[in-house]
Amino acid sequence: WFVGYRNESSAAASDSSSQAPPPAEKFEYQAEVSRLMDLIVNSLYSNKEVFLRELISNASDALDKLRYLSVTDPELSKDSANLDIRIYADKENGIITLTDSGIGMTRQELVDCLGTIAQSGTAKFLKALKDSKDAGGDNNLIGQFGVGFYSAFLVADRVTVSTKSPRSDKQYVWEGEADSSSYTIQEETDPQLIIPRGTRITLHLKRDDKAFADPERIQKLVRNYSQFVSFPIYTWQEKG
Ligand code: ADP
Ligand code: MG
Repeated sequence: WFVGYRNESSAAASDSSSQAPPPAEKFEYQAEVSRLMDLIVNSLYSNKEVFLRELISNASDALDKLRYLSVTDPELSKDSANLDIRIYADKENGIITLTDSGIGMTRQELVDCLGTIAQSGTAKFLKALKDSKDAGGDNNLIGQFGVGFYSAFLVADRVTVSTKSPRSDKQYVWEGEADSSSYTIQEETDPQLIIPRGTRITLHLKRDDKAFADPERIQKLVRNYSQFVSFPIYTWQEKG
């Protein structure tokens, strides 16, 4: 296990395709991310359903990015012509899966995007949090700024992100837990979970939040957000 290691070279060094894939590598979150996660996990923020808006908005961004880049580089979309978002609610097991066929992430992008704070919204959030003198300010701030990807931890105690960039020949799985200061990355090895391109996010819901894995509830929320999304959003449910 590697701790706090941020470089492709170690995984790339063992690229013999005939061997078993390398084991999961462990990474520490950047301190700011840990702070943000603590805040999200422990907050009493009641509009927990914003997680869905954040994840749909990321999926939509990823699809936009693919569509845009494909104009000059058609190779990027050769693995699938699909541009959509699919949400699957498994009520029985309290699991929500959200899949997009967007740009995906390489292994390095996983480390850069889901372990550090590179993006402006969250950085602004943390600054506002620091500036906030109001002890009860956290809750308002979450609503005001949104906390992006990490909002998944408002409802999930374990999140996996399995992602395939058209720029990488491998699909990688990021996995994080609500009360952990570290996350892991490994190659996707389950053939059933291999996707041609894009990102599949799986939320293992907290015991008290399993009710979110309800197709009707998801559909209702999606209807509110989808007006801002220019890609089809399908919601799936187990036939009862
Ligand atoms: P923001 O969307 O404001 O950049 P987020 O915390 O929501 O911040 O997401 C962080 C980054 O993670 C995104 O900028 C993007 O690079 C990456 N990311 C998140 N979700 C996806 C996805 N579904 N597909 C591709 N990249 C993603
Ligand atoms: Mg976002």
